[in-house]
Amino acid sequence: MDSRQRSIFYRFGALLWLGVLAACRAAPVSVAPVTSTLPNILLVTFDTTRADRIGCYGFPLARTPAVDRLAREGVRFADHVTVAPITLPAHASILTGLNPPAHGVRDNGAYALGDEVITLAERLKPLGYETHAFVSAAVLDRRYNLTQGFDTYDDELWAEDDPALFMIRDRPAPRTASRVLTWLETWSAKRRPFFTWVHFFDPHQPYQPHTRQGYLVPTPYDAEIASADEGLASILARLEQLQVLDNTVAVMTADHGESLDEHGEKTHGLFVYDATMRVPWVMRFPPQIPQGVVYQGPSRAVDLMPTLLALVGAPEAPAIDGVSLLASIRGESKWPALPQYHESLLAETGFGMAPLFAMREKGFKYIRAPRPELYDLAADPKETANIVAALPDVAATMSRDLDALLASSEAHAKPASVQVLDGETAEMLQALGYLAPAATRAAMTQKTASPSTTCLRRHGMPASAATGRAQWIVRKPRWRCRPTT
Ligand SMILES: [Zn+2]
Repeated sequence: MDSRQRSIFYRFGALLWLGVLAACRAAPVSVAPVTSTLPNILLVTFDTTRADRIGCYGFPLARTPAVDRLAREGVRFADHVTVAPITLPAHASILTGLNPPAHGVRDNGAYALGDEVITLAERLKPLGYETHAFVSAAVLDRRYNLTQGFDTYDDELWAEDDPALFMIRDRPAPRTASRVLTWLETWSAKRRPFFTWVHFFDPHQPYQPHTRQGYLVPTPYDAEIASADEGLASILARLEQLQVLDNTVAVMTADHGESLDEHGEKTHGLFVYDATMRVPWVMRFPPQIPQGVVYQGPSRAVDLMPTLLALVGAPEAPAIDGVSLLASIRGESKWPALPQYHESLLAETGFGMAPLFAMREKGFKYIRAPRPELYDLAADPKETANIVAALPDVAATMSRDLDALLASSEAHAKPASVQVLDGETAEMLQALGYLAPAATRAAMTQKTASPSTTCLRRHGMPASAATGRAQWIVRKPRWRCRPTT
């Protein structure tokens, strides 16, 4: 083959390849005209996802490219926390801008959001948004009334595989994402602005990843986060294909973290340490958010709704606990030193023990418990050394600030409806360690004082770990700590 023949051969080959590539490309996307200047909002919540197990939050072994992309092309909130280490109250705060004392949903299962509370969906709908929710676990079932303002609320989990005995009924990320993609097909013909909330449950126990990336990450828990990330990636890819990603405020956050044995707690729900309270919040919206912003100030689950309303130019929501952080994200003002509120009433509602209320402020965390705790979060980020005795003035000031914050939330409180647990829900919550059987609750309160104190002395754990032992005892009917001889 001489040089001329070679040239013809390669040119023909290149044309052939172009033809093959064109044939292999997905069917052409019909792009209908956008009918409004309002941006879309995609809010994706990962259940049970600690900030420090995400790539952009510094975990080098994570497989979270979609979340990392939102951070790289938008803003990452470096010091973000949730309000409560449990699914329903935390989601209620994300969707209302209210702390739990104001929206009234204090636990899974027994509470439903009151009709008087105005949700993000209800605020967006009058502006012309169509509103959709896709949830992946029975703890966010429509009976808990987060449906307010949503045109559609996909909680259809009964077609899913039966859960293991008494475990929570849920839907893995690929199936939830696939339903979102199906809805996007119908949406793309109309193109009204949407607010769509997608909830992925995968990182919640039991850890049974639906991803082939499982062998690439250190634990099944990390594989479950990777699985949720793949769900997010597929939705972002479709929005990009429809040429609407840049006109969509794409948000990812989590309802709470996972303790992974820190402080003697295996999962989440009881304590208010950073292991379960620090969560990711990343957000991409090129028209208004510069790329690669790292927001260093304190932010909270309740700030998400007012920030989203500001981003789309909606009226401010009156009488809520959160504030818009948009000006600080854009560098137009210094970030506000917001107090970060936490609560866990599970010890009380599930186990008949004292509830926990806490606050993060000016680098400290104060936990109001039968034995109060104070941590210097910069010097002791794992919260291992209680310094309440060394810094009583700081503890006293934070205790007063906590009272003020509670009073402020309660001033605009709306009543939740309290429901009687049905048998199946009670069994599910018990199996997850969220609830002690009623008949044994009182007896367990008695038991907790003695054997757990022995465990605590032996392992040097904080006093509040007693409730962690109590939670564990619900799942394992025998004490794991042998009696002292
Ligand atoms: Zn959750």
